[in-house]
Amino acid sequence: MMAKVAITTKFFPEELARLKDAGHEVVVHDGQPLGKPGLLAFAKEAEGLIVLLSDRIDEEVLEGLPTLRIVANLGVGVDNIDVAGATRRGVLVTNTPDVLTEATADLAWALLMATARRVVEADRDLRREGFPGWTFLPKHLGTDVYGKTLGIVGFGRIGQAVARRAQGFAMRILYFSRTRKPEAEKALGARFLPLHELLGESDYVVLCVPLTSETRHLIGARELGLMKKEAILVNVARGPVVDEEALVRALQEGRILGAGLDVFEREPEVHPGLIGLRNVVLTPHIGSATWATRRRMAALAVDNVLAALRGQRPPTLVNPEAWPKT
Ligand code: NAP
Repeated sequence: MMAKVAITTKFFPEELARLKDAGHEVVVHDGQPLGKPGLLAFAKEAEGLIVLLSDRIDEEVLEGLPTLRIVANLGVGVDNIDVAGATRRGVLVTNTPDVLTEATADLAWALLMATARRVVEADRDLRREGFPGWTFLPKHLGTDVYGKTLGIVGFGRIGQAVARRAQGFAMRILYFSRTRKPEAEKALGARFLPLHELLGESDYVVLCVPLTSETRHLIGARELGLMKKEAILVNVARGPVVDEEALVRALQEGRILGAGLDVFEREPEVHPGLIGLRNVVLTPHIGSATWATRRRMAALAVDNVLAALRGQRPPTLVNPEAWPKT
């Protein structure tokens, strides 16, 4: 039966075609973020909704869209969605795990390497000042990566993919996660440590946890204070996992060496203190942003919507408790 599917972003034509071929009416918002009133008007009477992590699907939105059967998030983290509220209403919530794991781990490494070897700073200076001549002790002396200690916080899909790459760099791999991962420990030669010990021993700390009430400000002034002075923090998880104010202070005061950040506490705002710092590399939340990965994410979101609207269980259902009530 035909249903309305609302998509809050520009989308791949072949994925739109799959929805239309299944007989659904598809509306696409291809512009600035909608905001709540805009979203409510745009998705009125929709049964399927494909959203971005910048779309907040809270109680009010769920209340205002009573026809909804599925919210398909274009991302693996679902911190933008009131999953409990959706479950209470029997609305299915889906995400896009696995298909973005490798791209996000690649970006974590890009940030780690760029920060350690001051790639962005050196590029910026070369464009501005020209090639300075080869010197033995240049301005952009960096820090080693090979053979150093990597501490991964959140040892799930992305955390383990980050660790796999570290094997090629002969790194000692430490991890902290909610649950121990004996198989991954064996396969990757990774060692579990409590968070505070991991912070004290790592040269690089990479954050790969989801944003939840437990992980909000997991890394604050105290945790930054436990890190080595020559350590680098990389965040590809979610901005609020780090107390950004405390991070800016730690960087300004040289209490850690640098940071590579793909996510920010108040996106799309970036803390002005970060902008002025040389020892940080900043990217605008592009962890999964490769063509192939975005195609796979779009396809998976459409698989989820098509399944739900056919009355079948979506392949990557986040709230199985809401099934099979719909
Ligand atoms: P995942 O497979 O679920 O891994 C998350 C890991 O974090 C799990 O091992 C989980 O433990 C652990 N964890 C959860 N709560 C914790 C806590 N309170 N303390 C310590 N560890 C905790 O998820 P993923 O696919 O790797 O994705 C991780 C996150 O990365 C996503 O939620 C998303 O926010 C972020 N992400 C960002 C980008 C980007 O563009 N920058 C792209 C993709 C994903 P258990 O194993 O016990 O569940």
